[in-house]
Amino acid sequence: MGVMTAQDETSRAAILTVDDDPGVSRAVARDLRRQYGNRYRIVRAESASDALDALRQMKLRGDLVAVILADYRMPELNGIEFLEQAMDIYPGARRVLLTAYADTGAAIDAINVVDLDHYLLKPWDPPEEKLYPVVDALLDAWLESDHRPVPETKVVGHRWSARSSEVREFLARNQVPYRWYASDEPEGERLLAAAKTDGLALPVVITPDGEAMVEPSDAELAARVGLATTPSKDFYDLVVIGGGPAGLGAAVYGASEGLRTVLVEQLATGGQAGQSSRIENYLGFPDGVSGAQLTDRARRQATKFGAEVLTTRDVVGLEVCGSARRVTFADGTSIDAHTVILATGVSYRRLGAPGLDDLTGRGVYYGSALTEAQACLGQDVYVVGGANSAGQAAVFLARHAKSVTLLVRGPSLEKSMSYYLIKQIADIPNICVRTCTEVIDASGEDHLEHLTLRNTATGESEIVDAQLLFLFIGAAPLTDWLDDLVVRDGRGFVVAGPDLSVGGERPRGWELDRMPYHLETSVPGVFVAGDARSESAKRVASAVGEGALAVMLVHRYLEKT
Ligand SMILES: Cc1cc2nc3c(=O)[nH]c(=O)nc-3n(C[C@H](O)[C@H](O)[C@H](O)COP(=O)(O)OP(=O)(O)OC[C@H]3O[C@@H](n4cnc5c(N)ncnc54)[C@H](O)[C@@H]3O)c2cc1C
Repeated sequence: MGVMTAQDETSRAAILTVDDDPGVSRAVARDLRRQYGNRYRIVRAESASDALDALRQMKLRGDLVAVILADYRMPELNGIEFLEQAMDIYPGARRVLLTAYADTGAAIDAINVVDLDHYLLKPWDPPEEKLYPVVDALLDAWLESDHRPVPETKVVGHRWSARSSEVREFLARNQVPYRWYASDEPEGERLLAAAKTDGLALPVVITPDGEAMVEPSDAELAARVGLATTPSKDFYDLVVIGGGPAGLGAAVYGASEGLRTVLVEQLATGGQAGQSSRIENYLGFPDGVSGAQLTDRARRQATKFGAEVLTTRDVVGLEVCGSARRVTFADGTSIDAHTVILATGVSYRRLGAPGLDDLTGRGVYYGSALTEAQACLGQDVYVVGGANSAGQAAVFLARHAKSVTLLVRGPSLEKSMSYYLIKQIADIPNICVRTCTEVIDASGEDHLEHLTLRNTATGESEIVDAQLLFLFIGAAPLTDWLDDLVVRDGRGFVVAGPDLSVGGERPRGWELDRMPYHLETSVPGVFVAGDARSESAKRVASAVGEGALAVMLVHRYLEKT
């Protein structure tokens, strides 16, 4: 016999009762329902194992359990043994043992074993006198304790598990609310037990409907947390590749101007801007705006206008198929469109020092300062980089960390960082700037413990204790997959418009009797916007502006073909 509960009663806290005698079980549930059914969900089981399964499922869903009433004499586990296990799942639930008179001795012993709140002698008639006063008192006590519901996605992981921090980053950047539980803390352990996993493979992600996923991939996560991953059509007017400010700008203008538009993003919309703790120079935000806020709004704006936004889809190929442009995904599927806007931006360069690769995600992070902020509490943190992104991260982390040391390879910040940031940094007492310094080694057992720093002026090196290192060391375009189809400069940035022409002539291989439009690449109908473009400004505002301009040129292209 399974567990009985009404379907529509999922949002209320539960009172669970278990008794192996179906008649008694029904009678308890009936009496409870009559008195508490409008405020609590009454869950009834006829065996200890069914009841434990029900509790585990409720735990994974984030449901609340206020009171558990268990019969003492049950065949597989007696009531005390059952309550002991139930306590591992719901330590805060109040516990009641139902006993016959003959078993009162056992019930009294149980007060110590399972910290029993009450034992009730059967029969409990009339309930108004014997049952309800007891349950009322227990509910009052339960209501006074902390029992906030946790309906959102839960991530059980370990601070030094690289995949755990990637998953947090992924969820955060996709604006999926989640709650983090350390796998070695009691509630994390309880969730792992409820999911029947041993905690060796982390993280375990539990969806709001209670499904547990062990070490899920980004694509699995996206699908389960409700992010679109597959296109609804096979032909579009415009495919935008990349979901940073340039791509989002293009999607907003494209969709709002009636183009059938799909935006394809390999990870999470927001791009680099989504990782910026505070953008202070974007027009219209005199007090600054967090990159996540700005790009989340942009994504909602794009979808409001009807753009499709696909996440966790990596574009790996672009082909010309007659008048169509074909975009191929990593899984081999493809979509066709009249036009394409490349908005693939740039990604962080990796630092080659020994030890860093192994410790990435275990104390070493490329750019992901935001989600690791809590881990910095009271720590000595190192940030590498001399540009604005490193400066912003140092300012942001200094609010949480004991100290922040900014490691800069050059002799000063003046050449590479905006004046306003240099000034902010100088005014923050727990930030120290070390110029002429580079990281030459990183070490640690299962997470970062030491860094070796070298002074480039004197050649001297020094080993420092370090648990957290954030690297912001410049960026490279993500355009290798374009092969030779579109012209790129020596560093891989896509060349467009007038920059393509040599001495005022049409570019080589260009067959149309007009020059390429301003942001058009060497392939007609394929445009580039934002940081991926050769000689671009590397700013949020210019990326957004280029996204909008590219859409205007898409219209011009469509009118003329
Ligand atoms: C920490 C930080 C702070 C910054 N602060 C500021 C600031 O204060 N002011 C300012 O003006 N600028 C700032 N910048 C710079 C600014 O964020 C960038 O100039 C801007 O984000 C560029 O936008 P983009 O759309 O061209 O590229 P990106 O933001 O790089 O976005 C490109 C997107 O394309 C995706 N993508 C790449 N390849 C593929 C593929 N093959 N398939 C699918 N998707 C793909 C990527 O995952 C990414 O999401 C900052 C940058 C950083 C990193």
